[in-house]
Amino acid sequence: MTLKLYNTLTRKKEEFKPIDDKRVRIYSCGQTIYDDMHVGNARTYAAWDILNRYLTWKGYSVFHVMNITDVGHLTDDLDQGEDKVEKKAKELRLEPMELVTEQVQRWYREMKSLNMKRHNVNPRATGHMVEMIEAVRSIIENGYGYEINGTVYFDVMKFHRKHGYPKIGSMDIEQLKTGAGGRVSEDETEEKKSPIDFALWINADPEHLMKWPSPWGKGYPGWHLECSVMGTKYLGEKFDIHTGGIDHLFPHHPNERAQNIAMGDLDEEPVNYWLHSEHITTDGEKMSKSKGNFYTVGDLLEKYDFEVLRMFFASSHYRKQVDFNEEALETVEGNLEKIYNTLWNIENAKGGDKEDLEKDIEKMEKRFEEAMDNDLDTPKALNSIMKFTKKVNKGLDNSKEVLNKAKEKIQELGGVLGLKLDLETEGGKIPSEAIELMIDIREDLRKEGDYDEADRVRKVLRNAGVEIEDSEGKTRWKRTP
Ligand code: AMP
Ligand code: ZN
Repeated sequence: MTLKLYNTLTRKKEEFKPIDDKRVRIYSCGQTIYDDMHVGNARTYAAWDILNRYLTWKGYSVFHVMNITDVGHLTDDLDQGEDKVEKKAKELRLEPMELVTEQVQRWYREMKSLNMKRHNVNPRATGHMVEMIEAVRSIIENGYGYEINGTVYFDVMKFHRKHGYPKIGSMDIEQLKTGAGGRVSEDETEEKKSPIDFALWINADPEHLMKWPSPWGKGYPGWHLECSVMGTKYLGEKFDIHTGGIDHLFPHHPNERAQNIAMGDLDEEPVNYWLHSEHITTDGEKMSKSKGNFYTVGDLLEKYDFEVLRMFFASSHYRKQVDFNEEALETVEGNLEKIYNTLWNIENAKGGDKEDLEKDIEKMEKRFEEAMDNDLDTPKALNSIMKFTKKVNKGLDNSKEVLNKAKEKIQELGGVLGLKLDLETEGGKIPSEAIELMIDIREDLRKEGDYDEADRVRKVLRNAGVEIEDSEGKTRWKRTP
């Protein structure tokens, strides 16, 4: 069976054929690391994690790069405003790299807690300054870059005449040129040749903190440059898949593609498949750090198990917008419980001598693969597992061997979707209801003045990985990682 992926470059679902027979090279745009990861970011990373896991499951060897942006992403995506990292560091009175160090560590911790597979490389922009300066130099040499007062711009119209510029997404160059819909910078003080030109290297004001010496004076790289440079450094001039959220349809990805072609003076497409995930919204609006309407992964993991979040991500197709609310998490939590209950039922079953579940295992796997082959249709794939659990629960009189096979297959396919389905950790976890009950008991003990016994309850919970905190007459709890 062959995998088909929706390629934004051609706007078609296409059969996936890697450049090397069995090796797949993927680049994913990652976190701008000035603030905590929110559930929208995590949804996008989960989509690429599933892509990686599914390709691996199909027998490919995957080399996956996801960058970390620690410089150059300005508050306005169109080369204007302040550097997001620098702005936040100033607010917190930290060195920009102090903030980055802290946030990178947190990001790794949370990615691991979310059961995201480690990427092969997580390159950081500040670690690739020399390569970025070299890339700007090549773009100028190849005739697509020009400098004005220490800032180097990309000449989009010149590029467009030879290679076509806005190929990713569905934009028209004329609309972009006139700034229709406010999609290009309309700053009249700018000296660039065309409003659609974007910065490769930006001249730094004296008070700017993050700056590096370059042939054009002290400055810093434009946001798009890092992805071109780090992508080609680790994956080569031409690679298989490039991913990102749909906010990257403009300007990030068309600019990145143009740079890749201009850097290497290529005559062919630098990336074969461009994949874009839809956004998570809150009350219909895009969840974003700048709007402040976000749920952080850290906060959610204190309340929900990581598998609930992974179930939530797998429950919608990556190209469909999904609204986030806690009721939605509760629904998927119920489905997760159904899968676990089935695994427990198998674990506790005596088993009989039937074998009829065997053909259902095959059916589930076939359905799963068909769904995933169809542009990673995770909701359908998950549905094949859910349907199978019903069959298992009615077929517990199958032989223990067949039942165990069923269990392993559920775990294997669930694993492709980012679940762990590990009975040992599930078994060792105190359910939320039990925690609430113990907190009530502790409260009663305190009211009766039995503080020793109340403290014992706190200790028992702590040993089980639950921390409680009393403030303003309320008791809150969280699971410690
Ligand atoms: P950023 O940190 O803003 O550069 O975003 C990191 C990644 O998360 C990028 O791939 C974005 O496209 C993606 N992203 C940002 N906001 C959302 C959202 N609300 N829903 C889904 N993905 C998002
Ligand atoms: Zn990028």
